[in-house]
Amino acid sequence: MNWTYGPTDVLPSFAGSIEVDAESAPFWQGLAEGDIRVPQCENCSTYRFPPGPYCLSCGSSMQRFITLTGRPRLFSWIVVNRSTHRSMPAPYVVAVLEYDEGVRLPAALHVPGGVDALTLGMPVVATVVQGDPPFIAGRVPSPQDPDLDTRVIAASQDG
Ligand SMILES: [Zn+2]
Repeated sequence: MNWTYGPTDVLPSFAGSIEVDAESAPFWQGLAEGDIRVPQCENCSTYRFPPGPYCLSCGSSMQRFITLTGRPRLFSWIVVNRSTHRSMPAPYVVAVLEYDEGVRLPAALHVPGGVDALTLGMPVVATVVQGDPPFIAGRVPSPQDPDLDTRVIAASQDG
């Protein structure tokens, strides 16, 4: 199998398949500007994803959007072996990334070394790909990757 597929190689087009409402508009606007922004409760500081009208922890409707660090860890992943869209040939990897802030978001994951190299908690570099709509892509970095936070490398070697 060819595991060299990366989300930056193919830009999916799902125009019209995303419904942007008042709660999610700042998230989508952030992606369009290259930032990953998620709502945070102004009352209890809990992050909300997906965006919604109320905090699931305290019920407050007060929120602000925070730009995440873009330096997440691999929380979970699946390998999709059957393509459902011509712009995304299988196999490809869909991951859940956990950011330093504790919030988890899905991402397309570029795995040039093959899925056998994936381990839970490994550092991943997250970027925004300007597709239609824009989406979050993760990349498993090499240890020499200038985008990788050296603090994260040290932490992963301890574990
Ligand atoms: Zn709250």
